[in-house]
Amino acid sequence: MERRASSMRERMSSISRESVKAFLRRNLFVLFTIAAVALGVILGFALRPHNLSLREIKYFAFPGELLMRMLQMLVLPLIVSSLVTGISALDSKASSKMGMRAVVYYMVTTLTAVFIGIVMVMIIRPGKGSRDSPMTSGNIEPVQAADAFLDLIRNMFPPNLVEACFKQYKTVYKKIVHTRNVTVALNLTDSLNETVEETVPVSGASGGVNALGLVVFSMCFGLVIGNMKQQGQALRDFFDCLNEAIMRLVAIIIWYAPVGILFLIAGKIVEMKDLAQVGGQLGMYTVTVIVGLLIHGLFVLPLLYFLVTRKNPYSFIGGLLQALITALGTSSSSATLPITFRCLEENNHVDKRVTRFVLPVGATINMDGTALYEAVAAIFIAQVNNMDLNFGQILTISITATAASIGAAGIPQAGLVTMVIVLTSVGLPTDDITLIIAVDWFLDRLRTTTNVLGDSLGAGIVEHLSRGELQSQDAELGNSVIEENEKPYQLICQENDSLKHRNSETTM
Ligand code: ASP
Repeated sequence: MERRASSMRERMSSISRESVKAFLRRNLFVLFTIAAVALGVILGFALRPHNLSLREIKYFAFPGELLMRMLQMLVLPLIVSSLVTGISALDSKASSKMGMRAVVYYMVTTLTAVFIGIVMVMIIRPGKGSRDSPMTSGNIEPVQAADAFLDLIRNMFPPNLVEACFKQYKTVYKKIVHTRNVTVALNLTDSLNETVEETVPVSGASGGVNALGLVVFSMCFGLVIGNMKQQGQALRDFFDCLNEAIMRLVAIIIWYAPVGILFLIAGKIVEMKDLAQVGGQLGMYTVTVIVGLLIHGLFVLPLLYFLVTRKNPYSFIGGLLQALITALGTSSSSATLPITFRCLEENNHVDKRVTRFVLPVGATINMDGTALYEAVAAIFIAQVNNMDLNFGQILTISITATAASIGAAGIPQAGLVTMVIVLTSVGLPTDDITLIIAVDWFLDRLRTTTNVLGDSLGAGIVEHLSRGELQSQDAELGNSVIEENEKPYQLICQENDSLKHRNSETTM
């Protein structure tokens, strides 16, 4: 009896040891990353009393800066190769259906985020009471809403693809003096010219990758080479191979991510102003944005995922932890993109045809957190200025906040720049953006995390809705493989992927 009990105990302990080991092996990166965040916070607060100079802080944050650079290095080839292969692997009917689903998801979730933001800011009313003095001043260039919209469309069609890799179009204003003939207007017999000064929008540029332009080009390119059938095979293989190679680089860089995140977070904590000073209106504004983001990220998006897929959203989110923490550390959804790909494909086993298609587009145009924040910030500034907004103005804010989130690049604090569009659309003073700059670095991290979460849950939802087309394509591929003896490389990859995916689903 006793012997049996002790052997039982031994077996149990070896099973639990095995399962703990397996758990640790599976979640090693996530555990490292969580530990890095904790260490970063501790280190940051431990160093604060030493009052480091700005130069010392810059050197201290260097390992974090390196992570940002490494991730950004991969973004450009990743966006192009994943979109081209993702779209060319689908037939045009399947890709247009999938595209429609993604766009509907983006619109619904962004508008919901804006709605939540507006409700929260109306309930909490953070801008009421005596006006805080601005904590910092900054220089925000005004831009008219109409020009900002046109810039968005212009950036979709870059005239030079090489330039699009490092530059975006941006309207700047120039004062031009010219003469105008007023003879007819004044009903004169003699000709009369008048000198007028006019502010004219002229072409300018801002630094950074024109992701929107590259997304549009890669989608069209993928669609075309997909339709070229056998003739396009060489290009398809090239981009597929490029994508695979970039993902292997991601697998290497991911080892460095915890170190980078540790220093990014510690550096920011050392650098930040004393948060105890952020009280009053600004404190309430921060709380409003945080509550709105939490409601959207932890309840609304998971609920939507559950309603569509009938699967547990929180276990899906569990697989994304590393991407979410990277977003928190880097404040950039594009820099996080490589990690998001890896989490979705490796941990959540989302079909590569979906991630390659949906993720780059999502990281560029779908920003729920940014939309929510823009709406809250605009109404907060109206409250601070004692301006009552009517229904029409609130509707304008909803629309422009959505557009501003689409136009914002996936880089740190891009939302702060596109805020100008929302403010000018309802006649609010753009200078008041300086009121919220003090806490923006912090809110930026939270809204970027929400943006990445929205993109990832979107990929899960689109995959679920598109499973019919994906399966019929798998079946078609299977048939053609039996018919032709020679399988092109990409078909073998796709088959393996979907087989892997199916296996993992059955084992889950
Ligand atoms: N930093 C955000 C992102 O990369 C954009 C923003 O500033 O709202 O998603």
